[in-house]
Amino acid sequence: MGKVYLIGAGPGAADLITLRGAELLKRADIVFHDALVQPEMLALAPGARQVAVGKRCSRVSTDQRFINRNLIDAAAKYETVVRLKGGDPMLFGRAQEEIVALESAGVAYEIVPGVTSALAASAELGISLTARGVSRSVVFATPRIGDGEDFSDWAPAVARADTAVLYMAVGHAAEIAGILEAQGMPASTPVVVVENASLPDSRHIGCTLRGLRDGAAQGLAGPALLLFGAVFRKRAHALIGQGLMADDALLQAVPR
Ligand code: SAH
Repeated sequence: MGKVYLIGAGPGAADLITLRGAELLKRADIVFHDALVQPEMLALAPGARQVAVGKRCSRVSTDQRFINRNLIDAAAKYETVVRLKGGDPMLFGRAQEEIVALESAGVAYEIVPGVTSALAASAELGISLTARGVSRSVVFATPRIGDGEDFSDWAPAVARADTAVLYMAVGHAAEIAGILEAQGMPASTPVVVVENASLPDSRHIGCTLRGLRDGAAQGLAGPALLLFGAVFRKRAHALIGQGLMADDALLQAVPR
């Protein structure tokens, strides 16, 4: 019986994986990886069979039960089985479902943490998600509700947090901004959108909550995060000022 390692690949850049994760990749027999994992990182596992699973890959492999089954089967055949997940495996990565499946099949496993994309975005912006006197709370949330999942009341906690980071949200950014405004989040709340954090083609958009509602984050193709809160005020204004985003009406309304 082999062992399954759920490893965080980090946000994208191949050198933002942990040493422990890289060492395990080096001796992996088989690697099941997400669509967001970059080819450069897979080069760290030259001896392994590589299997792409995850939403953006083949249709068959989108099914979580299929992934669970594969991990269990692989553990019967190989010594070192790696499940490589973008960012940190324990945040919005369906890790718990894999853990439950492995446990009930009696397969040994270990989790290796990774740098979640919110922290890569914070690093790249040079803006701390917490700041004395400005932000003492950070919320990581997603408005996305998967198939067969119950309604999620994600919005109130996001509207109340000093700093909030939304995952899997950019595709519905305008609608989400409307929901947050209805929850009482001020229309002038500074927003930064970070696409492809940690990668060479990363992009930042600055706007306000109202600007987001009016379509500021349209047309992004890569994975992206929506970041909200007073800590982003100066940067949001600077980005708006560079003409990356027309948000003039609100620019005047927001205190600098
Ligand atoms: N476990 C991952 C999150 C998986 S959910 C983590 O810890 O980061 C997938 C979402 O993560 C995407 O929809 C996007 O919102 C975010 N994401 C992942 N990689 C990203 C990147 N390099 N830049 C910006 N957002 C990213």
